Amino acid sequence: MAEAERCQLRVTGTVQGVGFRPFVYRHAVALGLAGFVRNDSAGVLIEVEGSPASVAALGRLLLEHPPPLARVTSVSATSLPMMGTNGRFVIIDSAEEGPPAVPVSVDTATCADCLAEVDDPTDRRYEYPFTNCTNCGPRYTIVISVPYDRPATTMAGFTMCPQCRREYEDPADRRFHAQPNACGACGPQLSWCDAAGEPLAAGPDALDHATAALRSGRIAAVKGIGGFHLVVDATDPAAVAELRRRKARDDKPFAVMVADLDTACRLCHLDAVAEAALTSVRRPVVLAARRAHTAIAEGVARGLPELGLFLPYTPLHHMLIRRVARPLVMTSGNLSDDPIAYTDEDAFARLGPLVDGVLTHDRPIHIRCDDSVLRAIGGTTQLLRRSRGYAPEPMALPGPARRQVLAVGAELKNTVTVAKQSWMVASHHIGDLEHLATYQSFRQAVDHLCLLFGVMPEVVAHDLHPEYLSTKLALDLDLPAWGIQHHHAHIASCLAEHARTEPVLGLAFDGLGYGTDGMLWGGEFLVADLESCRRVGHLRPCPMPGGAAPIREPWRMAVAWAVLSLGTDAAIRHGSRLDPRAPLVADLVRSPTAPLTTSVGRLFDAVAALIGVRSTVSYEGQAAIELEALARTIPTGEAPPYPVEQAWEDGKLVLDPRPLIASVVEGREKGTPVDQIAASFHEGLARGAVAAAVELARANGQQTVALSGGVFQNARFSELVDEGLVNEGLTVLVHRAVPPNDGGISVGQAAIAATARRPPEVSA
Ligand code: ZN
Ligand code: ZN
Ligand code: FE
Repeated sequence: MAEAERCQLRVTGTVQGVGFRPFVYRHAVALGLAGFVRNDSAGVLIEVEGSPASVAALGRLLLEHPPPLARVTSVSATSLPMMGTNGRFVIIDSAEEGPPAVPVSVDTATCADCLAEVDDPTDRRYEYPFTNCTNCGPRYTIVISVPYDRPATTMAGFTMCPQCRREYEDPADRRFHAQPNACGACGPQLSWCDAAGEPLAAGPDALDHATAALRSGRIAAVKGIGGFHLVVDATDPAAVAELRRRKARDDKPFAVMVADLDTACRLCHLDAVAEAALTSVRRPVVLAARRAHTAIAEGVARGLPELGLFLPYTPLHHMLIRRVARPLVMTSGNLSDDPIAYTDEDAFARLGPLVDGVLTHDRPIHIRCDDSVLRAIGGTTQLLRRSRGYAPEPMALPGPARRQVLAVGAELKNTVTVAKQSWMVASHHIGDLEHLATYQSFRQAVDHLCLLFGVMPEVVAHDLHPEYLSTKLALDLDLPAWGIQHHHAHIASCLAEHARTEPVLGLAFDGLGYGTDGMLWGGEFLVADLESCRRVGHLRPCPMPGGAAPIREPWRMAVAWAVLSLGTDAAIRHGSRLDPRAPLVADLVRSPTAPLTTSVGRLFDAVAALIGVRSTVSYEGQAAIELEALARTIPTGEAPPYPVEQAWEDGKLVLDPRPLIASVVEGREKGTPVDQIAASFHEGLARGAVAAAVELARANGQQTVALSGGVFQNARFSELVDEGLVNEGLTVLVHRAVPPNDGGISVGQAAIAATARRPPEVSA
């Protein structure tokens, strides 16, 4: 018989709260190993004694076949002197020592085993809405501190009944050390309250009340995993319209929860990638092309070619949607753009006036977490909002961290990111920081991430915009602050996700970001890596008449671009059809004090207004989204591209869309259908961007182009640019796991501030 050895195995990664210790226990026992396993602040620590073959087999299992929710980063083995054991293998309680460095798992959709129990009338968890196990259930949203153990979660107040306790303590059970383990006898309970917070029913009755309310067209707030949803019957036009009115949300599309994949397929065209995303345990909202003539009320996503669908991810959702038996609008529980409500107190205060009843429960949510949103594009997926189911999963840094970093992101779609050692963690979606409540949520997210991941920031990274609340917070901290240019951060976020450290040519096209010359940038060609950034080209600057007003009023940008392209008289003539103030705005355009912008997002706005798509918007990017929707009715390549010119000025390549604007206006005059104009605009601008990128790549010796910024959420434009560059033999990096919009800014800031030798300078 081979001699026995003793070995310490150190496992790092997402290994707590994912059934890792029972997994180790079962295999160690099966392999005849003695020793122990325990969680600690660095991950999971195992010591085993037994035959070298068995020890090696255990090591391989940990790396190659870990439990489904675990993400093992590394397993390191150290041999130890033999200690002699009683031959048993045991699980030891968590040791609390040192700064916590262990990632906490993401919130995960109810697994098939748990769902089968909920559906089984003979099971003790029949119709229990908080059923979960080590393979599923809430995690990030209930964790208060680490190590991840029940007392450090919002389940601390529930004492397990003897049966649940037995499962929790039995290493052979699926619920062994499942921290949120509960049943109807000992766990959280539902209640149905009126809008003032007065409880009217509890338990199964509560669900019946909510069902009846939703079936009769009423609006309910329903507490989920990361906050409250506002819920209505998605097939009831009057109910959907009433929800819009009460939520003060004019046009932004609502997400729809459907019972199963079959229903989803009846509403939208889904390819294999979209189906996989929809049914994944992360359960994001998936944007997909909608079918014509469905039962979904038009007001859910008026005029848009896509619908956001998702599947139930808690037993409560499954039970509710089965009873109501209709697709349900499930939108973030907030008024307008406030942060999502997640405590009962807050829900009754803020959502009470919006709803007819509240379906809540007594398991507290510790940290809010909105639903994630992704889109299937070109045979793969792209995250547009990375939140529940994804946060706080660590991402690898493209190189080792030189320092621990907190990155505070931008202003809109804010997220924060912390980084240290070899990884970074981006927070859930926080929202638009212009709202005070969102700002408080931002502070909480910063504190929580630093606590959970044991980060002691040595540097804080922020946007250069002095008026962003995130910038102000960063400068208030008593830390060295690195100002990172907005578009450099966009490109860096794309580099980080592709583990690139060499310089690339970056195309950063978005709404607005603060430039280093005091101008608002948004159509930038940059040669950048994580250490430095050089601006080598940009869109031709255009005045933004009326300060921030053009963001809400695209007709102002229409007038501005028309003045540059056609002259003042023609601009006033066309602009006056959009708004009577056009002559005044034309004057502003010619004023030397008008701020200038190179924003491609504002160019989309201008074109949308010029062809009558819309003159004002109720949410950011609306005009561009609707312009894209029109363009997509024309197959790619079937609309002649409108011309764009380029010229070298002061050593920079300037992309000049004036001929394109002239063509748009001419098309409008000639009566060309607006979808044709929209498609020709997309084709022309993409072709111009590709031509400029090819010239700049050659001039700067680049072979790789990274695409980032909110404009690249536009699937049609993004695909045209991507294809055009690939056809020219260039390698293209596009976003997959990090949003191209400002939700990714903190990731780019963190990647730069953690790995660069010194704060990068960006040449204007
Ligand atoms: Zn489960
Ligand atoms: Zn129980
Ligand atoms: Fe941006």
